[in-house]
Amino acid sequence: MRPVTRGSTPVDGDGEEIVFTNYSHARRELIARMGQYCSYCEMKTDSSLHVEHIQPKKPPGAVENIVARELNWQNFLLACTNCNSTKGNTNVNLVEYYWPDSDNTSRALVYSEGGLVSPASFLNARQKEIAVNTIKLTGLDKQPGNDPTDSDRRLRNRRETWDIATEFEIDLTLNDSATIRGGIIRAAKGYGYWSIWMTVFQDDSDILNRLIEAFPGTASDCFNGVGKPVARPLGQI
Ligand SMILES: [Zn+2]
Repeated sequence: MRPVTRGSTPVDGDGEEIVFTNYSHARRELIARMGQYCSYCEMKTDSSLHVEHIQPKKPPGAVENIVARELNWQNFLLACTNCNSTKGNTNVNLVEYYWPDSDNTSRALVYSEGGLVSPASFLNARQKEIAVNTIKLTGLDKQPGNDPTDSDRRLRNRRETWDIATEFEIDLTLNDSATIRGGIIRAAKGYGYWSIWMTVFQDDSDILNRLIEAFPGTASDCFNGVGKPVARPLGQI
């Protein structure tokens, strides 16, 4: 899960903080800041990318939307339909999860062949628990079901992207050129799934640094000079 920086509340032409009257009005600015990617599964998507509320705007039992959450820029991320519906409406205790806007989620979660997501092996028991909570909350462990109407293509898409990234890695081994390196970054931005590309090219600091740079809003303070994840300042990990 790519760690992101949402930035401060957008301002209007007079430099005044924009007061959102509808959370959907934040979508364009969120995409401008963080790219057109789901904040959780990293899918690149267009019309199905929604403004996501970290703390749900209308948790169970609430009669009306909680305005302080519904319209609060700091409570917004972007999520695809699948992540949005998996995460649902449940109130979340923030410290029980790792969040892409405040933690170095790319340090906590590792991706492996086929696009599988699991807790990083160096985590202690408590950190592992938080990582597992995060995976379950967003459904990053969901396997495609047998139901032909199952619309959850997240794992299939990660697997396909893993294969494409692996083919690019072979191309690069056969012919290490500026053209192929540039093509890898363009393909990564086009297909999405930043973490897959970061994993497949984990031994190539040039590609890692370019991926960090190329995806809008990637939290650069989560990485050292050779593109390896480090603890996020003020984050849980
Ligand atoms: Zn998603």
